[in-house]
Amino acid sequence: MSPDATAEDVAHVVEKVEGVGGEAFVSKGVVRTIIGLVGDLESFHHLNLRTLKGVADVHRISDPYKLVSRQHHADRSTVWVGKEGKRVPIGPDTFTFLAGPCAVESAEQTLEAARMAQSAGATILRGGAYKPRTSPYAFQGLGVKGLEILADVSAATGLPVVTEVVDARDVPVVAEHADMLQIGTRNMANFGLLQAAGDAGKPVLLKRGMTATIEEWLMAAEYIAQRGNLDVVLCERGIRTFEPATRNTLDVSAVPVVQATSHLPIIIDPSHAAGRKDLVVPLSRAGIAVGADGVIVDVHPDPETALCDGPQALLGADLRELAQAVRRLPEAVGRAQAHDFVGRG
Ligand code: PEP
Ligand code: MN
Repeated sequence: MSPDATAEDVAHVVEKVEGVGGEAFVSKGVVRTIIGLVGDLESFHHLNLRTLKGVADVHRISDPYKLVSRQHHADRSTVWVGKEGKRVPIGPDTFTFLAGPCAVESAEQTLEAARMAQSAGATILRGGAYKPRTSPYAFQGLGVKGLEILADVSAATGLPVVTEVVDARDVPVVAEHADMLQIGTRNMANFGLLQAAGDAGKPVLLKRGMTATIEEWLMAAEYIAQRGNLDVVLCERGIRTFEPATRNTLDVSAVPVVQATSHLPIIIDPSHAAGRKDLVVPLSRAGIAVGADGVIVDVHPDPETALCDGPQALLGADLRELAQAVRRLPEAVGRAQAHDFVGRG
């Protein structure tokens, strides 16, 4: 309350709060009185407390997200991806390696990339059939044909598939072919798409919007959770900063910050963060060290001819170096390999 608030002003606020079923705790200081509210936040919003006489300011202390918050769900969650009996965990005790081409270009290229990913130790295949491109003239993806290729490659390799959905109308067909739906950075705040993904009955990989705060990102996850789908994995993929040396700046702090406030798993994408293949291995090491639950990386059998994101795709010696880091380092931070737990969830 403002310093000149009267006893009547305080009583009026208390009466309003109690009128909507809340509790009001009044603490009188020498200069100011503070009123602490306990109860349903939504009903307090309707009171327009800031407009009441004598009120100086209103601060929210509890998290604005409920379902994805750790406040009422202290244990961190594990999300299982894939078909019954072959599910792969992404969660607090394991480290999960996801890899594949940026885009599905052909059946041969996708199968080859999937084999590369699998030999490097990946347990989930990534690959875009619908590509959200900054330019409308750039390759937009193969669409349903690409989904069919992914489903075939998944059957041939046994790897579950995560693929992006860019339009709410495509959610059913993507969910029919894929094991996990990806929402990309450009669509993180597309609330209709988030709700449709929440209704799809498949786990969701939610990338951080390139200009989104962590709170905005968790609110986006809340949209999915609110539709009854708590199988959401967050992905830090770099944010826009003033630095042009990298495509984006990988915000490694986001990993422990998210883990402190949300129970959802969080992985990092060093490929889309850096946009440069020489940074993928060092950033992956950083991700493991900071406690990420997994890493998702672009690989391609022939990056020079890639239709999308060739400069960041790994192959050969670089991929072997990544494979070694992913095999060795998680143990040093107390994590088991996800592939040792496949099928247990
Ligand atoms: C992708 O993973 O293919 C992609 C487009 O990523 P982002 O949304 O992070 O740019
Ligand atoms: Mn890409």
